[in-house]
Amino acid sequence: MVSSRHHGSWRVNLWDKVTAGPSWTQLGKYQKKLSSSVSAQSCFLSTYGGTSHVSLDDVFTEVQLELHHSSSGVHQPLDLEDVVGSVGTVNKDADTVLVSGEAGSGKSTLLQRLHLLWAQRAALRDFVLLFPFSCRGLNLEHRELCVQELLFQHCCWPDREQEEIFQFILDHPHLILFTFDGLDELKEGFVDELRVCCPTQRAPVHVLLFNLIQGTQLKGVMKVVTSRPGAVGPGLKKHLRKEVLLKGFSPSGIDCFVRKHHSDSAVAAKVLESLQANTALLGLCHSPVLCWIVSQCHKELLSCGEGSPQTVTDVYLMILQHFFQHHSTSKGTTGAGWLQEHLRTVLHLGQLASEGITSSCCVFSGADLETCGITEKDVCMGFLVQSKDVSPGNSKRYEFLHVTMQCFFAALYIVLSGDTDCSTVPKLFELQDVTETGLSSTCLRACLPSADQQGGHLEEHTTAAEAPNLQITATFVSGLLSQRHKRSWQRCCSKAAVERKVRQVTRCLSKGMQKHFRSIPRPVPGEKKSMHAMPGFVWLIKCIYEMQESRIAKDAMSKLEVDHLKLTYCNIGPMECTALAYVLQHIKSPVGLQLDNNSVGDVGVEQLLPCVHVCNSLYLRNNNITDEGIRRLTAKVVHCDNFQKIALFNNRLTDASTLHISHLLKAKQSFLSLRLGNNNITAEGAKRLAEGLRRNHSLKFLGLWGNKIGDAGAEAIAGALENSKSLVWLSLVGNGVGNAGARALSGIVRNSLSLEELWLTQNCITRAGVEYLIQALKHNTHMKSVWLKNNDLSSEEVEEVKLIEPRLIF
Ligand code: ADP
Repeated sequence: MVSSRHHGSWRVNLWDKVTAGPSWTQLGKYQKKLSSSVSAQSCFLSTYGGTSHVSLDDVFTEVQLELHHSSSGVHQPLDLEDVVGSVGTVNKDADTVLVSGEAGSGKSTLLQRLHLLWAQRAALRDFVLLFPFSCRGLNLEHRELCVQELLFQHCCWPDREQEEIFQFILDHPHLILFTFDGLDELKEGFVDELRVCCPTQRAPVHVLLFNLIQGTQLKGVMKVVTSRPGAVGPGLKKHLRKEVLLKGFSPSGIDCFVRKHHSDSAVAAKVLESLQANTALLGLCHSPVLCWIVSQCHKELLSCGEGSPQTVTDVYLMILQHFFQHHSTSKGTTGAGWLQEHLRTVLHLGQLASEGITSSCCVFSGADLETCGITEKDVCMGFLVQSKDVSPGNSKRYEFLHVTMQCFFAALYIVLSGDTDCSTVPKLFELQDVTETGLSSTCLRACLPSADQQGGHLEEHTTAAEAPNLQITATFVSGLLSQRHKRSWQRCCSKAAVERKVRQVTRCLSKGMQKHFRSIPRPVPGEKKSMHAMPGFVWLIKCIYEMQESRIAKDAMSKLEVDHLKLTYCNIGPMECTALAYVLQHIKSPVGLQLDNNSVGDVGVEQLLPCVHVCNSLYLRNNNITDEGIRRLTAKVVHCDNFQKIALFNNRLTDASTLHISHLLKAKQSFLSLRLGNNNITAEGAKRLAEGLRRNHSLKFLGLWGNKIGDAGAEAIAGALENSKSLVWLSLVGNGVGNAGARALSGIVRNSLSLEELWLTQNCITRAGVEYLIQALKHNTHMKSVWLKNNDLSSEEVEEVKLIEPRLIF
């Protein structure tokens, strides 16, 4: 059951009333009608639409949800129902929760699950009415509406007493939930200016939507909005109650999904085995949409052996082949024969897709399909499904199985069509810069054939919806023009044209990288030269990986001169790690690679291994890494001469990790800094770590803040470091260290010639324990400070010891 935001008693009262009077009976009837409509809309997954009906209950798999870092201090994983719960609230006055995640990370499916659970009365029972909207559907509404019309016409029409039911909504906003899927697909960007306060006032739907989000309309109604990360600007963010990040499947989620997808457990086991054997592909499967494709194409996957997919483009080509071969006249067509057989369909669907991408259109009418020459047979291939959104005229509407599939077809069209302009490819890539500054993309539109014939749904300016789709399309174009795939296209279109496009993409990627490098500011004298990833940098890296052109990577990296590469909060998951390592392994001189606050995980760590030899330091704070990731990482870095520093604050490490780290300490006498704060290391782990510390003669910084090593652990560490000539900084903050620990640590203070700072904040040392430190400090003149704030001393004792020893800091 979802935790209630409100007092529990109202519901009882409400349902008492529901059965009491006639209008409440109508409300009950309306609720029933609404919930059966919500249930009907949400019980099947749409990606299976072209193949089979798969029930959401059967296949839904838990996804990884995290709070955005603005909700500081809360790092626990979230449950589905926490999305609407109070955990992580940053603005109590706001009613809108944003769920953000990349395309295919499972945003729509998550909402679908919430809808179904509500309709089944299995969750969200505090909400009497739930109104689901898709922004894609709202784009089709060109009339001006008032809120009542929006709710009743777009979700569910009350058969009687419409006014009373709407009045109930106005009077009880806390019992109502709205969901808006795909805010990034809305054609109009968020603006804060147009206020519509009166519920009967009509306005364009996007204006109503913005007013609902801001709370100028129906204040108190809870709203859950989904979007891709980049599309929500600060104007909207200030109206958010909280932001939840959707990070796709966890490793166990992949396992669970594959098992749910295949009723035959032997097949599931084989698919999982082949994923374990290809960790680049396993990395891709953290994205639910890719995991779905891989599971769907298990036959192709299991038969391709050595050549199993490595890139996102490979995965989409696999599903293309899968769907076509399903409908092929000549079964068993090998090589790219299937493509030749279905080239016409590819081009027609591709034309529809690319026109849609350039005009922010994901829903197509029968007439749109006809214009592109798409026949009933083409539709039957399964790439297009009937849209669930009710269109004003109730005529049939179509959409691609997933927006990424639309981008893929648009890319196929750009690569295969002879009709595209010479400047299409450069424009597509240059546009990424343009969209970042919000300029018009009409230039690309002009390069694609027949775009101007679309009339109706072409807009004049780049919208929030266009930028990410153009990026995905460009990534696919890079992949399709890679060495390994380009030969297939040469059978279907002019070889010279394909070669020209390859050259164009190569040039664009090189130019793009140079541009990023040129933007690196000059270092302040005495400081290291550091590069912060700019928007688009990770995208460029992914394009280079899709192209599998190590030449571009080598060339780009030979010109990069930085000491520190900072890619924090960049949505880097295992898939991005594969691409990063592919490119960064060519860096000339060693760098510090800072990947804090991403979703690297163990699979990502494994993917990074090819580039750790160019890293002198690796910062992986807050990345969901477990002991297994550390095992793999240490096994590699132990052989890397440059490697000197590692930061693993706030991961999921236990004592098992310390065995590997201890080995690393023993083996690497050039190792400088080890930060293991906020993990689950106990006294046992500290003892094991001590074995490594005793044999290491280079370590300068050791951070164990926020573990549970206690006195026994502190004693072990102190014993190992007592004669250290290198240690400069030691932190055992928040570790349950008492007087016995303090006594042991005073040994280091007494003897060390190198230690400058000792951090013992937030422990349980008393006045007696501090005395050991005071006595030890008498023998040590170079030590700068011992931090003791929040220990077990009275304020009088604190004042007293501060006078005795000013280097004790409280
Ligand atoms: P987004 O809205 O973020 O683009 P979707 O929700 O459309 O992503 O997910 C794409 C596809 O991935 C779905 O159609 C489904 O096949 C699969 N999928 C996503 N999330 C889940 C989940 N939690 N359980 C099972 N399958 C999922």
